[in-house]
Amino acid sequence: MPYLMKIMSIFGTRPEIIRLSRIFSLLDTNFNHVMVNTSQNYTYELNSVFFDELEIRKPDYDLKVKTGKYGLEVSDIITKSEDILLKEKPDILLILGDTNSGLAAIPAAHHRIKIAHLEAGMRSYDFRMPEEKNRVIIDHLSSLLLPYTTYSRENLIRENIHPSKIYVVGNPIIDVIDYFAHKIESSDIMEKMKLEPDGYFLVTAHRSENVDSAETLEKIFLSLQAIGKRFKKRVIYPIHPRTLSKIKKRKIPSNIELIKPLGFFEFSKLEKNSFCLITDSGTVPEEALYFKKPCVTIRESTERPEYIEEGSNILAGLNPKNVETAVKVITSHENNREWNKSLGDGTTALRVANILSGKIDRLQY
Ligand code: UDP
Repeated sequence: MPYLMKIMSIFGTRPEIIRLSRIFSLLDTNFNHVMVNTSQNYTYELNSVFFDELEIRKPDYDLKVKTGKYGLEVSDIITKSEDILLKEKPDILLILGDTNSGLAAIPAAHHRIKIAHLEAGMRSYDFRMPEEKNRVIIDHLSSLLLPYTTYSRENLIRENIHPSKIYVVGNPIIDVIDYFAHKIESSDIMEKMKLEPDGYFLVTAHRSENVDSAETLEKIFLSLQAIGKRFKKRVIYPIHPRTLSKIKKRKIPSNIELIKPLGFFEFSKLEKNSFCLITDSGTVPEEALYFKKPCVTIRESTERPEYIEEGSNILAGLNPKNVETAVKVITSHENNREWNKSLGDGTTALRVANILSGKIDRLQY
């Protein structure tokens, strides 16, 4: 039997599971692949649902990490992933993105296990975001950096990461949408919710710097209330458990429809048919560009300036007046942006598998 490179993937949140889903399939068929779910997002709607929908096999390990307090969560991820790294001794640890689950890079680097980082090089240059610190740590501990875009590649080079470690691979979300396009199309969520195409805003907001403070959360609700009224559209808000836990006794304006988080097919179908997307998510602006839908980002900074340069997204901040103006501007012109330039060509999974297989024995620390 020829030696099969052992790759351990570690993940635990909604966007990681979705983005990695097509890559998992190639890792399973071409490598000795060990899958580790930290369950950092532990509810069914943010984790297990995507295994069922996106044809992902059962992970080899479920770390069931403790969540809630920062120190508890991070130390549990480090301790439990160290045990598995020492037991499995993978050739490469594959990490996607910037979550606390990615901090498994710390014990991996300590034990000289090489790390490949997908979604490398994103920078908001805003240290209020917990994710920004994780991005810097994971990138600088990695041997192989796999950014989505040339802009992210340049960020890495500016931080003195050697270009020989970097390969731009495009955005894996496109592989996933392309592969499941028929399932997205056949979702009946529009009928179930009695929604008309272009008749509603679709909202996601859950970043800690936005929802952990009562003041910023209030601005979000005021913005949503104002745009719903002004544009005479329904406001559909699948609410993340973190945001729900912060709302407490606040009365929700009657024109905002809070619903449970949706599965990927239903949510994508709603994106595709919405009037405009309002979000603080990283992935939603990418999906908006793919579906050629206007998108307003309700954040003060972004690690994805490509979509703003593209003209498909406005970075509006949280002030209700600015959000209203941004919606007016972005919905007043045809959104015909080409997505290939900043999202790649939908063959990211293949590129990742090729690059990993070419790197056995030759990765530098
Ligand atoms: N998403 C979903 N159901 C929802 C809301 C979002 O399936 O109710 C998907 C969305 O299509 C995208 C991903 O979840 O692919 C975005 O995840 P999130 O916003 O939590 O993470 P971020 O992209 O900000 O890291």
